[in-house]
Parts: sequence; structure tokens; C-alpha cells
Amino acid sequence: MKNSIVIHWFRQDLRLSDNPSLFYAATQGDVLPVYILDDKNATEFKMGAASRWWLHQSLIKLNKALNGNLCILKGDPVQLIPDLVANYQATSVFWNRCYEPWRISRDKILKAALSESGTICSTFNGSLLWEPWSVLKNDQTPYKVFTPFFRRGCLNAAPPREPLPVPDNMVIMSNKTSNQSKPGLGINLTELRLMPKKNWYDHLASIWNPGEVAANINLQSFLNEGISNYKAGRNFPSRKNVSRLSSYLHWGEISPNQIWYSTKDLANNNKLNLLTEDKNIDHFLSEIGWREFANSLLYHFPGLPRQNLQKRFDNFPWRTDELSLTKWQKGLTGFPIVDAGMRELWKTGYMHNRLRMIVGSFLVKNLLIHWKHGESWFWNTLVDADLANNSAGWQWIAGCGADAAPYFRVFNPIIQGQKFDPDGIYIREFIPELKKLPNKYIFAPWEAPKNILKDSGVILEDNYPNPICDIKLSREAALEAFKQTKSFS
Ligand code: FAD
Repeated sequence: MKNSIVIHWFRQDLRLSDNPSLFYAATQGDVLPVYILDDKNATEFKMGAASRWWLHQSLIKLNKALNGNLCILKGDPVQLIPDLVANYQATSVFWNRCYEPWRISRDKILKAALSESGTICSTFNGSLLWEPWSVLKNDQTPYKVFTPFFRRGCLNAAPPREPLPVPDNMVIMSNKTSNQSKPGLGINLTELRLMPKKNWYDHLASIWNPGEVAANINLQSFLNEGISNYKAGRNFPSRKNVSRLSSYLHWGEISPNQIWYSTKDLANNNKLNLLTEDKNIDHFLSEIGWREFANSLLYHFPGLPRQNLQKRFDNFPWRTDELSLTKWQKGLTGFPIVDAGMRELWKTGYMHNRLRMIVGSFLVKNLLIHWKHGESWFWNTLVDADLANNSAGWQWIAGCGADAAPYFRVFNPIIQGQKFDPDGIYIREFIPELKKLPNKYIFAPWEAPKNILKDSGVILEDNYPNPICDIKLSREAALEAFKQTKSFS
């Protein structure tokens, strides 16, 4: 007897291992693997240029792992999936859940349509350790503060699912064997036109290796080396103490469960109590916890990407200053640590977390430019651009989010540089113009005597700008502006 045909719809789960939906699909029949680029329902949340670059590479890898049988489509899944069901006479459709509000609305409509037409449709948790509705306070409302969310909520809830293997004996349908006369069948990856026209991202290929295989290699090398000094080292952008797994996690090329249990194994092998005896392991897992927290916030407060969680910030007197915004984007503010961060982003599609906080604080507090401008620049240029983490990160830094950094804590970019890049290694990597400046002046070149600038080859306002604002005065202006929000609370 012929096997049933079942559809696994790949979304933010571009991997074969620990993929609950794919694993289940493989037990139900011959699997037709599908990816759909949905710019229609994404509307204003369409992915940015760097994300598209990553996705293109990742789909190449996934298609290869599926022996070239990934059915690639572009358009509205609410129409395309029922077309596929009809074409292949599929009995069931499976997918792993996503938590962006626009995806939740779309998926609900699709699920209802499939159920109505008699198609089995089941969804799974493939992206989070704990789903947002499973971690609530005693009064059944969502947590708004990270520490109780993670320590009291997550760690006291049922342990996360253990990772699954690649499905054994999975039969993958060839997408070429269908009725070719009907619409809704696969197209070529190039037809998705994911690769942006400009070639600024060419260099990304020399830095990143998207896909499931590389994700696992990166995790192992981080667990072998970086994690041993994670807690302290994660603050220093020139050190190799962070995992750089964010884009792999965002695209689901690795699952948080795989990371969680591999880290736990490391602790067990060292005979340590996972969450108390090794501060590095504990700290790393709590950062994975921040990802869970951001997703929980996005789920429970779907306005997170656009609306201040603290309403009193709705009346904050933001400035409109196109010129300063452009200088910030291009890494031309005259503050070397800020500029190095922004140039790292442009050059690599990534920015170290410490720098995300420094450049974010500079934009919203020293320049008084609305956080949404920073959020949207990151959205377009980060390879790990993630609606939950990015919106939560910007609201945190602006002080208007849940459990946010207090607005009055304004990072001083000179002190931050001295503290977290004391030898100027990171600054010199991304601002070669300042390479020869002595450490004493590398955080504030305008303070250097003329002869030192000359000897270092720095010509202010020629090959490196003067600062675009006064740190002390702009901080005072920010605090003054913040006072105004108090009357609106
Ligand atoms: P590691 O330190 O190795 O951490 C491991 C993982 O934990 C990360 O890969 C990430 O998935 C998660 N994580 C770590 N820190 C955070 C955090 N603060 N919030 C949520 N999850 C965290 N992260 C994104 O993945 N996408 C974004 O678009 C994004 N935008 C941000 C914007 C701002 C303004 C700020 C302050 C932070 C943002 N972050 C974002 C969070 C964080 O900066 C990155 O996740 C981290 O720098 C990625 O590097 P890593 O993988 O080496 O992190």
C-alpha cells in the first residue's frame, strides 16, 4: 500500500536534528519538506537585508541535507499550503510554532482552513525551552521582570524537552513527482531573490557559515573554550568568550534544547551542579533565558516591537535629527567605541552585546533619537535580527521596556571603552584610522595633543570626526527629558 504524504513546513527551524515537527511527520508518512518565503503577511516586519543573505545560505544547506528535495515557494502560506495538500493529496501538515504576532495570526487562519477541509494539522514546540503560556506568575499573569521569570518560573517548571535525533529512515518526497500542471509547486531558490542587489554583504561569506552543521561545530568550540570564562569575558568585545550562536538560534539551525543539554552535559562531566557551582555555565544558561524572556514578552505584549511597554514614554520629547542618525549608522560619531560597534555591525552583520548596549544608549540618551530608529537599523543589518530579542533589547536600553535599564543610567562611551576595551584592540580592529593613537587617547582622540595626533596620522574632521555631541551636556539633557515622562506616569 502507498504511504500517506505528509507536509513538514520549515519556518524558523532550518535543521533536521531535534526538530519535533519533522520527527513526528517522519512517523506519519512520506515527508514533503516545504519552505515558504512569506513577505505578504509579514508586512512591516519583512526580514531585513542581512537576514535575507543568511536565509539564502541556510536554505542551500538545508536543501542539500534533503537531497535537493526542499520545495521552495514564495507567497501566502494560507493559499499555498492548501494548494500543496491538494496537489500531493497530502493527509497532514505539521510545523513548529513561531511567536511573532503576525505569524500567530496567519497560522491560526491556516490551521482553521486545513481542519475545515479535513486535513490533519499539528504544531510543535521547536524553538523555545518553555513556551510563553507555560511560565506565568501564581496569579496567571506574565512575568515582567527577568530574574523571577527565569529563576522562579522557568527553572521550577517542567524541564525542557530532551533533544531528538534526526528522524531515522525518513522517506523524503521528491517535489518533482507531483502533478506539474497545478499551481503552487516549488521554485528555484534564486527566484526568492534573497540576495540583496548591493554587494556590501559579500564579505559576510568570509565570516559566517550558516547552517546546521556549522551551528553544532560552533557550539562545541564554544563549550570547549569560550565558556570557561564566559561570565567576565562576555563583556569584552575583543575576547572570544561569547558563543556567536544568535543567528543560528534565530534561524533554528540549532535548538535551545540542544544548547541547554550540551551545556548541562559539560557541567555533569565536570561533576558540577549545573546552576550553582559554575558561574560561567549558570550565566550562559541565563542568557539563553533572556531569549525565552524576550519571546514571552513578545507573546504576551504583541505591541512590543512598536509601542513603549511603559506608557509614560509615549510623551518623551524625542528629537528628529537625520544627520546625527546617519552619522551613528555609519560609525562617524567621533566616539571611537560607538563607531567601532557600528562599523562591526556594517562589516560583519553582528555586534557584540556590550556594544549593542553602548551604541543603543548613545542613540537614545545622548542623541535623544527614538529607539525605533535604532531597532530598524539593527533589523536591516544584523544577521541575527530577531523580532523578540531586538525589540526587547531596544526597549531595555531605552528604559521604556519591562525590567529595563533605568533611564537615568546613561553609558559614558569614554569610560565604557576604557573599561571593556582597555587596550583599544576592538577599536583598532574596526577603526584602522586610529590604529597608531596611544591607548591614553584612543577613547577620546579630540583630547590628544596636536603632535600626538600628527604622529598617529589622525587628522580630525578629515580622516576621523570630532565628537557630534558633548557627553556631559547631552547626558544632562537626557535626564531633563526623562523628568518630563514622570508627570505622565
Ligand atoms: P551569547 O552571549 O553567547 O549568548 C547566547 C545566546 O543567548 C545568544 O545567542 C542569544 O540567543 C541569547 N541572548 C544573549 N543575550 C541576550 C539578550 N540580552 N536578550 C535576548 N537573548 C539573549 N539578540 C538577537 O538574537 N537578535 C537581535 O536582533 C538582538 N538585538 C539586540 C538589540 C539590542 C539593543 C540589545 C541590547 C541586544 C540585542 N540582542 C539581540 C541580544 C544580544 O545582544 C545578542 O543575542 C547577543 O549579543 C548575541 O551574541 P552571542 O550569540 O555571542 O551571545
